[in-house]
Amino acid sequence: MPAYTPLTDEHLAFLRSCLSPDRVSTSAADRDLHARDQSFHAVRPPDVIVWPETTEEVSNVLRYANRQRIPVTPWGAGSSLEGNPIAVNGGIMLDFARMNRIVSVRAEDFQVDVQPGITRIELNKALARYGLFFTPEPGADATIGGMIANNAAGVKTIKYGATKDNVLRLEVVQASGAIIRVGTRARKDSSGYDLLHLFVGSEGTLGVITEATLKLAPIPADFSAVLAAFESVEQAIQSVVDIVGAGLEPSALEFVDKETVEALNRDKSMSFVVAPTVIMEFIGASDTEGLQMALEICKENGATNFAAAVGREERNKLWEVRHHTYESLVRLHPGFAQKIMDVAVPISRYPEIVLFADEVLAQHNLLGYKFGHAGDGNLHINIIHDPTDPEQLDRVERANGIIVERAIALEGTATGEHGVGIGKRRFIIQQHGPALDVMRQIKGLLDPNCILNPGKIFLDADDMTDVSSDRA
Ligand SMILES: Cc1cc2nc3c(=O)[nH]c(=O)nc-3n(C[C@H](O)[C@H](O)[C@H](O)COP(=O)(O)OP(=O)(O)OC[C@H]3O[C@@H](n4cnc5c(N)ncnc54)[C@H](O)[C@@H]3O)c2cc1C
Repeated sequence: MPAYTPLTDEHLAFLRSCLSPDRVSTSAADRDLHARDQSFHAVRPPDVIVWPETTEEVSNVLRYANRQRIPVTPWGAGSSLEGNPIAVNGGIMLDFARMNRIVSVRAEDFQVDVQPGITRIELNKALARYGLFFTPEPGADATIGGMIANNAAGVKTIKYGATKDNVLRLEVVQASGAIIRVGTRARKDSSGYDLLHLFVGSEGTLGVITEATLKLAPIPADFSAVLAAFESVEQAIQSVVDIVGAGLEPSALEFVDKETVEALNRDKSMSFVVAPTVIMEFIGASDTEGLQMALEICKENGATNFAAAVGREERNKLWEVRHHTYESLVRLHPGFAQKIMDVAVPISRYPEIVLFADEVLAQHNLLGYKFGHAGDGNLHINIIHDPTDPEQLDRVERANGIIVERAIALEGTATGEHGVGIGKRRFIIQQHGPALDVMRQIKGLLDPNCILNPGKIFLDADDMTDVSSDRA
């Protein structure tokens, strides 16, 4: 690990002169608010939080921190699930809450330019008057900067792609303080190395995003959402594989296990049939044929019950219930925590990973709620546990490790959308092999003093020793 300079009064005086005193805080309350994300990783407050308002301010802070060897960690909404924005080495935290403007809506090009601190929900509220929306939809109300840095995705990814597919151009401040623009407003670009996508998903470790041009889609006029209930998990997930295999184009294709359906019924006073369920949505009257074919596929696979949420209101209610699964589980298991797992596999291996996860949870005597963006081969498991019991935590970690390693062995990934952060570092060694060395070289080139969000994505030599003793 590189040697960092502890923060001094002189550093603080510089930051206060560079921004303004009211936008620099070392208060215990502010440090505590920025000490953790939504994961269980060790809490670590930054030494100071700053709230920049312009790209130039970000540039000045980075240039100074780079010279002084002070770590800098960007912060969006802190909704990550793998410790991605935790300032594990302390230092300066850049909170983008005050860089949250829509710079320009270019409705005729289906594009918007935004600052990174605007949240997805705020942005989509403002875009509604143009009949447009930014399509990636993670469960939390994340900021655009955090979504780009984690390459977030969600229920609509099967139709519209992940965040990486919906970003056209970025303004990035490098560790040195240099400001660059990568990408273009054109929808196609083959002009050299694809630096745009190097920064997307880099979790604040290669550069700091200060502006983004995003691709937008028209808000669909109408939808047809249907829930299909099955007798077995196998039937439900085989239907997902068959719907994708038939070339149909749902705008969402989600799997929810029967335990999750039961939990949502209890918490939200709903009356869904308690069974392994597939939620599918098709856009517009024009795709009724697609929906009919999907229903046929479900029937052939043994679906026993269908429930339709046809109108916009019913459909919105359905997604609201699904999006609040985490909160419902919090209420249903007071005093317990959830480890939110995220793996993805090729669609043909989806049944295998879901059934394997069931076995592993049973072997480890753990209660896990399974659901996910099945159409993308993405599985989430919320494992309920007592966070104060080390033996339970150990069982959760072991089960998590076994499932993640199987996903990689099935030619999938350790993380479909939550990023590597702290939690997935040891697994990407297995996933990427020698390609991880190339990533290290890129990191070394763009951030030679390793000031940008250190401790993420790559394991240090010390941590590697921990992993080998873990596995022994
Ligand atoms: C209940 C719940 C459900 C969720 N569901 C989903 C889901 O369905 N899909 C999904 O993808 N995720 C999901 N997430 C995870 C999380 O919401 C996403 O990873 C989101 O993208 C994080 O955004 P944020 O604004 O909270 O960023 P933060 O957590 O604050 O930061 C995320 C990363 O981005 C970096 N960063 C932030 N701003 C910048 C910037 N301007 N420049 C460079 N780097 C920056 C940070 O350093 C950090 O590494 C869920 C989380 C919760 C709590």
